[in-house]
Amino acid sequence: MKRLSEEEKRILLYKGTEAPFSGKYNDFYAEGTYHCKQCDAKLYSSKDKFKSSCGWPSFDDEIEGAVKQIPDADGVRTEIVCANCNGHLGHIFKGEGFTAKNTRHCVNSLSLDFKKS
Ligand SMILES: [Zn+2]
Repeated sequence: MKRLSEEEKRILLYKGTEAPFSGKYNDFYAEGTYHCKQCDAKLYSSKDKFKSSCGWPSFDDEIEGAVKQIPDADGVRTEIVCANCNGHLGHIFKGEGFTAKNTRHCVNSLSLDFKKS
């Protein structure tokens, strides 16, 4: 496990949300892999990232088995966490029609660590 900053802890451990359009990967499209900031597990490939203009990095698929979906405490949304360390990533939305997979993983940049391929 990595040492997390206070802001990273707020997101990953206490399920916070970074401000929209503030994250370093919001408008970022290099080729590579996004790892969990806390445990370094591979979570997303850049090929599944798309521009949603929602203010957070958006992916329409995860690396197989890397992301777990759980009902959010708000009773409405579905939360996504790292399957390895349970760190909070964001939320998953379906049926919005952004891509053919019709799925948007809305992920906090602070939960991710990008590595070039
Ligand atoms: Zn993790």
